[in-house]
Amino acid sequence: MNRAAFFDRDGTINVNTGYLHEPEKLIFVPGVPELIRQCNEEGYLVIVVTNQSGIARGMFTEEQMRRLHETMNRRLREEYGAHIDAFYFCPHLPEITGACDCRKPKPGLFLQAIKDYDIDPKASLSFGDSKRDEEASRAAGIPHFQYVSAM
Ligand SMILES: [Mg+2]
Ligand SMILES: [Zn+2]
Repeated sequence: MNRAAFFDRDGTINVNTGYLHEPEKLIFVPGVPELIRQCNEEGYLVIVVTNQSGIARGMFTEEQMRRLHETMNRRLREEYGAHIDAFYFCPHLPEITGACDCRKPKPGLFLQAIKDYDIDPKASLSFGDSKRDEEASRAAGIPHFQYVSAM
C-alpha cells in the first residue's frame, strides 16, 4: 500500500484570490512548495483534493482549471523541484447541480484517490486551511490533519 499527503488547493497551496483559474495569477503560499517537495522526497504520493464550484457557477471551464493545474505543476518542478502526483476536484455546487458525494466536507474525492492509488489512509497526511478539509479527511479515515496557515 502507498502513503499519501493530501493537499487542499485554494488557501493551502495557492493564495486564495477567489475562483482562481488564470495561470498568470497563481501565487504559492510561502513554504508550501517546500513542504510538497519534502513529501515527495519522503515517499508520499502528493494528491490535491479541491472543491471547484466555479465550474458549476459557469465562472471557468474544466479545461481552464486543467491548464492552471498544469502551470502549477510545471512551476513546482521548475522552481522548487517538487511535484503533485494527481488532482481530484469537485465541479459541483448543490444549489446548481444537486447534491454530490465529492464536495468537501464529504470524503468522496479522498475515498476515490485511496482506491485508485491503493493508499493506506492511516499512514497518510492531510493539509488544508478549512474545517471542511479536516472533516473530509477524517471521514476518509486519515488521522493526521494539519492546518497550513495562509498569508
Ligand atoms: Mg482552501
Ligand atoms: Zn461534487
